[in-house]
Amino acid sequence: MNIIITTSEVVPYVKTGGLADVTGALPDALASLGHNVKIIAPLYKAIDKQKFGIKPLEVYEGKQQIKIGKKVYNLDVYSAGNLKKGVEFLFVANDTLFGRDGIYLDTKKGKDYPDNDERFIFFALASLEVAKGVDFRPDIIHANDWQSGLVPGYLATLYKDDSFFSDTRSVFTIHNIGYQGHFEKDIFPKLGLPKSLYSPGSPFEYWDHVNFLKIGITTCDIITTVSETYAEEIQSSNEMGFGMEGILFYRRHDLYGVLNGVDYEIWSPENDDLIPQKFSADDPSGKEKNKKELLDLCGLKPKGKRVPLIGVISRLADQKGFDLIEKIADDLFSLDLTFVLLGTGSKNYHTLFETMEGIYPNKVKAFLKFDNKLAHMIEAGSDMFLMPSRYEPCGLNQMYSLKYGTVPIVRKTGGLADTVKDYNADTLNGNGFAFEEYKPEKLLSAVKRALLTYKDSKVWSRIMNRGMRADFSWDKSARRYVEIYRKAHQKEKTTL
Ligand code: ADP
Repeated sequence: MNIIITTSEVVPYVKTGGLADVTGALPDALASLGHNVKIIAPLYKAIDKQKFGIKPLEVYEGKQQIKIGKKVYNLDVYSAGNLKKGVEFLFVANDTLFGRDGIYLDTKKGKDYPDNDERFIFFALASLEVAKGVDFRPDIIHANDWQSGLVPGYLATLYKDDSFFSDTRSVFTIHNIGYQGHFEKDIFPKLGLPKSLYSPGSPFEYWDHVNFLKIGITTCDIITTVSETYAEEIQSSNEMGFGMEGILFYRRHDLYGVLNGVDYEIWSPENDDLIPQKFSADDPSGKEKNKKELLDLCGLKPKGKRVPLIGVISRLADQKGFDLIEKIADDLFSLDLTFVLLGTGSKNYHTLFETMEGIYPNKVKAFLKFDNKLAHMIEAGSDMFLMPSRYEPCGLNQMYSLKYGTVPIVRKTGGLADTVKDYNADTLNGNGFAFEEYKPEKLLSAVKRALLTYKDSKVWSRIMNRGMRADFSWDKSARRYVEIYRKAHQKEKTTL
């Protein structure tokens, strides 16, 4: 199959979260199964063209301009070349829209760019035009999250009679339903669609607004999300579906959960060049050195011989359960443990962890930044990984943690529920610690259970080992996507 993946971020070029990990790894896995894949992303200023050898596409023969409302934007197209057989990364460029410091946010103001509507209208139209310009007829266009929501939207409307796309079907993946691209209704004319498409109940109307996520969900041929449990959860309640639960329930027969894979070439302690000492399930002894170096780097001085180190790597957002940590912070940090956090996000959580560092200087260290190398070091050097998310579509860090023998402590939701099984002291089964109710005392008792279990080093080694041997590689997930692409292909095309 010819497959186009449209995404607003992709590893190794630009990343704010898990979406980039997925769109960076899935193409290779699909290519290994014999498919041709082109990934299309915006060329942000943050992408280092020189470092990655990204060059203007000389043979590009498509449109050079994109009209949005009354404005006309130039479209330049770049390519990172064919890095692997069957995989090409293409970038759509416009300096006015993407030549700024932030990806989605104005970094100085800490707020969404006010013209994110135009940026991602441009991105959707440009992606379809680029396919035509490079003459790559896609069997599938796989769009991701709200930033790509208009891709299926345009395929079902403006491009429905375009013979170039007559065999194209669309798959739309929700990586996080909490982010929707929700705009005032006056932006509708910018979409360049007939007025008749903006009526109550139409894909392009959402409570008197325009919502790019809703457009994606309602106009694509098949919807997927990134774990089976999350696929159920987002239909089940307003709290989990963020207002999309009704339309998702309506389309439940077209909705599938596919767990993200892990790119073990990047995230695996036996191959990891970013950590002080490599180790593996067969010989985990090197983990000790990673812990020692991490503790030194953090300036943490545990009192006692075998004090566990709990790691956190996360966006500091409400979704990730930091309000629970905030409520039990003193009880938590009074326990016999050390704690290292890497993350950026909400100011109140920056303040929380700065305060905790001040109160517990020998126990708590917070790195309030984005730092990929440090993320690897924390995975390698911690004993436990804390992820008490309110909701978690898939979550990658718990899977990385399992591989690094860093036992996850998670809330049982979404992809966390699908990957981390609670340790049972009677049956000795399980690869981590999980709690169900979103309550601070439940989190605290899960941590206490983990600390108690850690005291028994034999039992702990078994739990670690089980996690390190689990396999969440991309191959299985990519095969599942291919099945879904084939299903989409057999369907009647969605048109409006
Ligand atoms: P989400 O996509 O909701 O942010 P995931 O667990 O799916 O959560 O993916 C997060 C990804 O971003 C992981 O690869 C994680 O290591 C990385 N990450 C998050 N915050 C940081 C940070 N401050 N520094 C380095 N990497 C980070």
